[in-house]
Amino acid sequence: MPRPERLERPVESLRGVGPQVRRKLHSLGLDTVRDLLEHRPRRYEAAAPERQIADLLAGEEVVIAGTVRGTKMRRVRRLTILSAKIDDGTDTINAIWFNQDWLADKLTPGRHVRLRGFLKRGDFHVRSYDLDGISATADFAPVYPASEEMTPKRLRGLVEQALESVGDFPDLLPADLKVRRALPLKADALHALHRPSSLAEAERARSRLAFDELLLLQLGLARRRAERAADVAQALEPAGELVGRYRAVLLFRLTPDQERAVAEIDADLARPVPMERLLQGDVGSGKTVVALYALLRAVESGRLGVLMAPTETLAEQHFLTLEAYCSELGVTVGLLTSSVGKRDRQRAAGASILVGTHALIQEGVDLGDVGVAVVDEQHRFGVEQRRALVAGRTPHVLHMTATPIPRTLALTVYGDLHVTEIARPPADRKPIVTAWVGAERSSEAYRRLRRHLDEGRQAYVVCPLIEESETSVARAAEVEAERLRRGELRGYRVGLLHGRLRPAERRELMAAFKARELDVLVATTVIEVGVDVPNATIMIVQEADRFGLAQLHQLRGRVGRGAEQSYCLLVSRPREELTEIAQQRLQALVDSTDGFELAEKDLELRGAGELLGTRQSGLTDFRFARLVADRPLLEQAREDAAVLVDYRGPLADEAERVFGDAEAIA
Ligand code: ADP
Ligand code: MG
Repeated sequence: MPRPERLERPVESLRGVGPQVRRKLHSLGLDTVRDLLEHRPRRYEAAAPERQIADLLAGEEVVIAGTVRGTKMRRVRRLTILSAKIDDGTDTINAIWFNQDWLADKLTPGRHVRLRGFLKRGDFHVRSYDLDGISATADFAPVYPASEEMTPKRLRGLVEQALESVGDFPDLLPADLKVRRALPLKADALHALHRPSSLAEAERARSRLAFDELLLLQLGLARRRAERAADVAQALEPAGELVGRYRAVLLFRLTPDQERAVAEIDADLARPVPMERLLQGDVGSGKTVVALYALLRAVESGRLGVLMAPTETLAEQHFLTLEAYCSELGVTVGLLTSSVGKRDRQRAAGASILVGTHALIQEGVDLGDVGVAVVDEQHRFGVEQRRALVAGRTPHVLHMTATPIPRTLALTVYGDLHVTEIARPPADRKPIVTAWVGAERSSEAYRRLRRHLDEGRQAYVVCPLIEESETSVARAAEVEAERLRRGELRGYRVGLLHGRLRPAERRELMAAFKARELDVLVATTVIEVGVDVPNATIMIVQEADRFGLAQLHQLRGRVGRGAEQSYCLLVSRPREELTEIAQQRLQALVDSTDGFELAEKDLELRGAGELLGTRQSGLTDFRFARLVADRPLLEQAREDAAVLVDYRGPLADEAERVFGDAEAIA
C-alpha cells in the first residue's frame, strides 16, 4: 500500500544530508523526497563504452564492472575521499568518490558494481554508479540542474535514495485513461525519468509527467467552465436595424474571418448563457471593427455596451475610434477614466456605450445593465480582470487580444474560453517591409522616411525605450523631438506624443495627425495600440534592440493600415554589440510579419514565464511540459479534461489545488 506521507519527508531524512546540505537543496527548490523525485534532469549523459580495467586510458569516460575488494576512507582538508578497490579479472583499480562517506557501508567486499567515470592519475573517478550492477544506469545518467554548491553528481546520489520511495507516488489518473492513452504508471515514469535505459524511455517518462501537469490545469479550467455554464445571462434580440446601418457605414466589406467572428458572436448572444469568447488576431486584422459590432448588438437590445481597456491611454484611443463610427450612427459613447472630470463622468454615464479602464468600469457601472462587455487585454493576459468581471455578474463578454497568443498558450491560459481567430487581415493589405539597420546607417533610414513625407505620406518615429519614470521618458522624448526638428526632420511638421500629455492634448494631437496637419509623429510606446492612420506608411524605431519582440510587432502594426506599401525600419546599436537573442529578435521581425509565428518565436526565445509576465506565469510554470513542443499532448489533455470534468476524488482535488495555486499567483 503506498504511503504518500513518506514522500513528504524532508530531505534531511536521507543519508548524508545535514542542515548545510538541506540549505543548498532548498536553494534549488528541493525540500522533500517528493521534490527530488520530481526534479527533472536537464539532460542525460550519452552512453559510455564499457572497458576492462586493464585497457583503461586516462581521461576517457567509460563504464567498468567488477567486484569490490575493500574500501578505505581518508580526509584531505575539507574533503572525504572514499576509495574502493575494484577487480574485474583483468586488473584492479581504486575507484574514488568525494564526500560520499555513507556509500562506504554499501560497498561491502564481494559486491558487484557498475561504475561510470574516468581514469585520472591512477585513480578511477566515479561520476555515476550502479550498485546492483544489473541495469545500465551508468548510461544515460541524468544530469540535474544544479547549483555551484550542489553538483549534478551529488544530486544524483540523493535522487537515487529518493527513488526507494518512488512506489509511494500516488497515480491520480484513472486506469482506463492510462490504458487508452498508453501511459505508463506514475511511479514507473518517475523511475524511468531518473534511470532510463534509453533516451526514448526518458522521453516517454517525461511525456507522461507532462501530461499530468497539462491535464490538471485543463481540468481546473474545465471545472471553472462547467461552473459558469450554470450562470444565466439575458439572451439578446436577433441582429437588427442598428448593426445593419453599421455595416453600411463601414467603408469596406467584412473579411471572411470577420464575418465568421460576427456569426459566432451572434450565436453566443442568442443564448441565455454568458458569452465567454476570446477574439484573437494580429494587429490590424480588424478586431476592433468586430468588437464594435458586439457592442452595438447590446445597444440595439436596449442594454449598455462597455469596452474595458488596460490603460487610460488605450481607453482614450478606443474612445476616439468608436466615437468616429458611432457619431454616424447616432449612438452616444462615453469615456470613463480617472482624468475625466466629475461632470463629464456623469454625462458619460448616460451614454449607450462606455469606454474606460477596467477599474473605473467596475466601480462606476452597474454590470447588471451591461449587455455586452468587451475586454481589451492588449498583450497582457487579463486573468484577474476576467475573474473580477465574471464573479457574480453575467454580461456577455468578448475578450480581445491584440498580440496573438501562441495557440498553445491560448489553450493553456484561456482553456476555459471559446476562441475565435482572425487569421487573415483585410485583403488589400501589403505585408509591411521590415529592414534592420545598424545605427551607423540611420541617416539612410531618415532619408527614406523623408522620401515618404515628400510624397505626401506620414510617418512615425519611435523614441528609444527608457526604463524610468514616465516623466523622464517624456523629457527624453521632448529632447529627441527637438533634436529631430533641428536635424533629420527639419522643415517638416513634427508632433510629439507621450504619456504625460493631458488627454485633451493627446486627442488634439491625434486628430491633427489624422487630418494631415502633422507629417511626423515622434512618440514613445504610447502609440503601440489603437492609433489608426492609414496614410502613415513608414516607421523608424530607434534603438530597436531594446524593445521586446511582441512590442516591436505591435509598434510596427501602426503602419501598413492602408493599401500602400509600408515600411518599418528598425535601427539598432551596431550588430557586434548586440546579444545573440537581441539579434534573433530583430531578424525574426525582418523575416516575418505573421504575429502568430512571431509569438511562437518569442515564446521560444523567452519562455512562457516572461511572455506572460511573472505575475501570471503560475499557470504555465511547468516542470515537465513544454508549451510549444507538447501541443499535441495539450490537445489530448484538453479532450480528457472535458470527459473527466465531473469526476470526483483525488484527481479533482489536485486539479483544484494546482489551479488555485496558479490563481493565487495570478
Ligand atoms: P485591430 O483592432 O485588430 O488592430 P482594427 O479593427 O483596428 O484592427 O482594423 C485595422 C484597420 O483596418 C482599420 O483601419 C480598419 O478600418 C481597417 N479594416 C478593418 N476591417 C477591414 C476590412 N474588412 N476591410 C478593409 N479594412 C478593414
Ligand atoms: Mg485596434
